[in-house]
Amino acid sequence: MLRLSELKLPLDHSAADLEAAITRRLRLVPGELRGHHLVKRSVDARRRGAIALVYCLDLELEAGARRRLLRRYAGDPHLRPTPDNRYRPVARAEGAAAELRPVVVGAGPCGYFAALLLAQMGWRPLLLERGKAVKERTADTFGFWQGRRRFDPGSNAQFGEGGAGTFSDGKLYSQVSENPAYIRKVLEELVAAGADPEILTLHHPHIGTFKLATVVRGLRARIEALGGEVRFGQHVVALLLGDGPERRLAGVRLADGTAIACDHLVLAPGHSARDTFAMLHHLGVAMEPKPFAVGVRIEHPQALVDRARWGEAAGHPRLGPAEYKLVHHCNGEANAGRSVYSFCMCPGGLVVGATSEEGCVVTNGMSQHSRRERNANSGLVVPITPEDLAPYAREGEEALAGIAFQRHWERQAFSAGGGDYRAPAQWLEDFLEHRPSREPPPEAVVGSYQPGLRFGSLDGCLPDYVLDAIREALPVFARRIPGYAMAGALLTGVETRTSSPLRLQRHPTGLESLNTPGLFPAGEGAGHAGGILSAAIDGIKVAEAVALSLATPHRST
Ligand code: FAD
Repeated sequence: MLRLSELKLPLDHSAADLEAAITRRLRLVPGELRGHHLVKRSVDARRRGAIALVYCLDLELEAGARRRLLRRYAGDPHLRPTPDNRYRPVARAEGAAAELRPVVVGAGPCGYFAALLLAQMGWRPLLLERGKAVKERTADTFGFWQGRRRFDPGSNAQFGEGGAGTFSDGKLYSQVSENPAYIRKVLEELVAAGADPEILTLHHPHIGTFKLATVVRGLRARIEALGGEVRFGQHVVALLLGDGPERRLAGVRLADGTAIACDHLVLAPGHSARDTFAMLHHLGVAMEPKPFAVGVRIEHPQALVDRARWGEAAGHPRLGPAEYKLVHHCNGEANAGRSVYSFCMCPGGLVVGATSEEGCVVTNGMSQHSRRERNANSGLVVPITPEDLAPYAREGEEALAGIAFQRHWERQAFSAGGGDYRAPAQWLEDFLEHRPSREPPPEAVVGSYQPGLRFGSLDGCLPDYVLDAIREALPVFARRIPGYAMAGALLTGVETRTSSPLRLQRHPTGLESLNTPGLFPAGEGAGHAGGILSAAIDGIKVAEAVALSLATPHRST
């Protein structure tokens, strides 16, 4: 087959128009095009008056036509032989190696994909998750958001089956370019576990909260069907290390005192496992501070974003609710060198409480598959520098300074919210004017944050340099999205869990911890991924590294 990309058609076209466009573009004669398959479809909205759909297609062609096209379009980057992006396992459990049982910690996208790949290669991984299975976890988390249940530090938006991404928008794209075979593998496994097949062909696919819960159960079922095991309520509180100078991993200990022996451990605890990071630091596992960002969530009417992006075409069924991505590099005297960017934008979604610790308030966004809620929400965040963290660093614990920083501001927000998990909120005009919010301005956005808002001031909930940088960025963003700085846009704080504040260092090849053989740190918490897709891909890469190590006859264990 040949792959044709960048084929543009107007929004309102038929299937016949698409076929005619292929024929025209490649100057084919009738009978030469035997069929075509959609690879990706994206939207080109650079000209709002002429929004186009952009296709990437695999073409089945008559043999002579295929040869002719390859010659004629030899220098054309948009016509190429279809690449082979199939995923191929790197090893197979056989003989004595098959009896070795790798352990995976964390049932987030990284841990589930690591376990799934190991199981597909013939091992029987044991997966340990501190939280509950998704059904019970959903009852706890939604119960907390809706005021029916107390906050549970063991079962919430961060902890439990599916990890941090379970109650989310389920966006499945990454800022980092990845091997297409890995991307394809993740998306195909998600479809096999229950996701809509359209995620395979959309440029910016997303799953949505309730569908994600189904997919997560589907992934578990696939792991178990292959001989893997998933255990919930299994909180790993210590690594057991050998006595020798190598400190080789020998097992893990759970909160109830149970010890589980293993010599290959995939540790995928997510960015909120603060107690786990402290334990690893105490044991001397190699780690370093890592940049992260903090800020607020902003809500606008989704209709405002749709109008700005789609113009007259807003509401067209082929477009759906619009997304945005904004960046501003500050140049104001006080903020020079800082930047502000939109983070994890959720069209037609809700803002939710994403703390995993008592006495803290953390915001994030989620949506249903339909993205039909009234508001668009997005994080507006500012990167934090090592100098910003200096006041939070305790001697000998520099790698944990980011956690101390996050926790400090999350507690400030908890207190400003009234001390009952409501989030502090301020309308945009009041925020710009440094004035606590009392009365809603005309056309004020009705905030969606659960478990509720307390209006006042965001001053004191984040460092001044973060709030000032956001103040500088808002009018600039309004030039890109007219109305963005509307008086009644709503800011809710604080958005602190954007990525891990530290990195568990590992060897570039082999992916083992730098100083703890047998330990394979993985995913977002280990600082090697950001988002559902990249965490899942890191899980695959680490599973490959573990499999190669298990299958090597001369292992040092
Ligand atoms: P996690 O998903 O955090 O999973 C880690 C798991 O390990 C957790 O289940 C935790 O309970 C468990 N664990 C931790 N410590 C231990 C221990 N000591 N013992 C046993 N188990 C342990 N990303 C996107 O790409 N798109 C989105 O739309 C999106 N929306 C989001 C919305 C929300 C509300 C949140 C909170 C996050 C969102 N993210 C989104 C981020 C995304 O969820 C994470 O990047 C991703 O889940 C990271 O995967 P992970 O497997 O590395 O870690």
